[in-house]
Amino acid sequence: MPSLRRAALLAWVLVTLLVGLTWCWAAARSVQAQFETGARILHRVLSQRSEQQEAVLASLDALTRAGVGRRALGQYTDAMRAQYPQIVGVQRCRGRCTAIGPSGAHLPGGPLVPDRAGLQWHPSVPTVYALARGDLRVWVDGRRLARAEDFTDPTSAFQLRRPDGGAVLVRQDLRRPVGRMDAALPVLRVRKVLGSAAQPLVFEGAHPLRWSDLPLWGAALFAVGSALAGAGLVRLIEGRERARAEVRHAERALHDERARAERAFHAVSEALVVTDADHRVRLANPAARALLGGALTPGADLRDAARFRATLGQRPFDAATFWHSPTGADLPEGVTLVTGDGARRVEGALAPVGGDAGWVLVLRDVGPLRARVLATLEEGERRVRAHEEMLAHVTRLSTLGEMSAGLAHELNQPLTAIVSHGQAALRLLADPAADGGRARRSVEAVVTQAKRAAGIITHLRGLVKRTPTAALVVDVHQAVENVVTLVAHDAGRQDVTLDARLSRAPLLVRADPVHLEQVLLNLVRNAVEAVKDAPERTVRVTSAVQAGAAVVEVLDTGAGLSDDVMARLFTPFTTTKAAGLGLGLSLSHTLTQGMGGELRGENRPGGGARFTVTLPLAVEAPIHA
Ligand code: ADP
Repeated sequence: MPSLRRAALLAWVLVTLLVGLTWCWAAARSVQAQFETGARILHRVLSQRSEQQEAVLASLDALTRAGVGRRALGQYTDAMRAQYPQIVGVQRCRGRCTAIGPSGAHLPGGPLVPDRAGLQWHPSVPTVYALARGDLRVWVDGRRLARAEDFTDPTSAFQLRRPDGGAVLVRQDLRRPVGRMDAALPVLRVRKVLGSAAQPLVFEGAHPLRWSDLPLWGAALFAVGSALAGAGLVRLIEGRERARAEVRHAERALHDERARAERAFHAVSEALVVTDADHRVRLANPAARALLGGALTPGADLRDAARFRATLGQRPFDAATFWHSPTGADLPEGVTLVTGDGARRVEGALAPVGGDAGWVLVLRDVGPLRARVLATLEEGERRVRAHEEMLAHVTRLSTLGEMSAGLAHELNQPLTAIVSHGQAALRLLADPAADGGRARRSVEAVVTQAKRAAGIITHLRGLVKRTPTAALVVDVHQAVENVVTLVAHDAGRQDVTLDARLSRAPLLVRADPVHLEQVLLNLVRNAVEAVKDAPERTVRVTSAVQAGAAVVEVLDTGAGLSDDVMARLFTPFTTTKAAGLGLGLSLSHTLTQGMGGELRGENRPGGGARFTVTLPLAVEAPIHA
């Protein structure tokens, strides 16, 4: 239990006890005062009554002394008895005692021994006694000294006792008997001798205190009421304490938050300057002081300390807009900060703090950052280049097998042509009647084919050696014509129509001329082979410009590409020919990509195959079909 509640409980117990006890004590005192007042009144009444019989005795004594006759005495006695009922008889004792007038009790006839107070007690009725003077005796019944109306307090007990202790008059008419619970409470008592000196009877009174005399319900109500009030008070105090604790907690959190913000403010690498609404410096972090120097004294105008200038060729820096835009502003790109020791490229912004509280300027010196970024970019680029070269080298090596097989494949054609043209030349030279011009053309064809074979070998060696391929501006039409010339002989033999539909104007691309011819040669030769057994034997080569690229198409009227071939079209060793190597298309694909272009193969809707070579144009040139 919190200490406040413990203290409140203790205080409540103490106060309740104090109030309850004081209240009960006051109530008991009031009961006592009431009882004592009643007893005093009763005592006085009894004292007065006891004096009545003394007065009667004195009167009788005086009458007898005056010689009043017995008869008159008797009448007087009767009258007195009627008035004072406690007097039960009168006697005259001269040796023997005789009654004067009638008596209400059986009176003793002989002399009696008085007690130490001088009272003579009836030998058989303990409540009756006689007052004696001379030879006169006035008998009094103690029970009649009091009357019913004398007892106004029904809750108290009274009695009259003889001086020697016996009871004369007992009045104990307690309407409710004292209960067991009430027995725990004290009994109030009075004891007093009657006022008559001749009748020193002892008057005693008793009043047992009862719980009902005490304000227990009131005390209980007080206890409950004070408990409720106390609980309310405790709650109020606790609520206020809680509220105070929360305020303290919030203050501590705010303090911590502020300390964190301050640490961040000082640790942040950007320059931060906080100003009032008139741009007077209030706070600046170390980065700001390092960037802006000594001009940043508190109270200085930030507009003087931080002067900006646009770089050459850009819009002039608009200081008025930057410093006074109500929603804040970013520094334009490429702005330099002019300080005492030179100019620096910076980025940053000015933002209002809120209301009229001022501004915060954030600046970042981007010079070192730019240098770092550039260095990182260069390093990255260098690595990418090295990686690409390495990758290309590995690829070339891995295709070495492909190349060597391709070498045989590619050289077979010119070598066969060389052999057949050489034999023809020999035949013509051996025949003196033969036309010298034909022999020369055959030898020229030998030379052309031999050059082509040498070109292929050089090219393959270049690939393996990692020498970059030549990138010259080449006329695609020239390459097509060369290829058509090469294949025309074979095509003619197989009754295949070779149809090259080209414009006169050159179509220039940047490519390796040998690679380009090689690609076109592969495509045209495949097309011729594809149509040689077909009902219609036509191979067509077209050229066009599409979207800034030169597009060459080789179309045939053959059976088209089967699904199997289509699935692995540019994969090496894909072939359907008995003597084929399946390297022509894969090599052509690689070479086209090497020239920055693209090779596609597909079936034509009307039958036959279509191969499309797309190469970026070196020079935009209109083409006329
Ligand atoms: P090869 O000619 O040695 O078989 P290629 O790589 O040049 O190797 O050709 C691969 C295969 O593609 C050929 O075997 C052939 O089945 C198919 N092919 C190539 N061109 C055509 C075409 N114009 N029409 C139909 N099939 C073709």
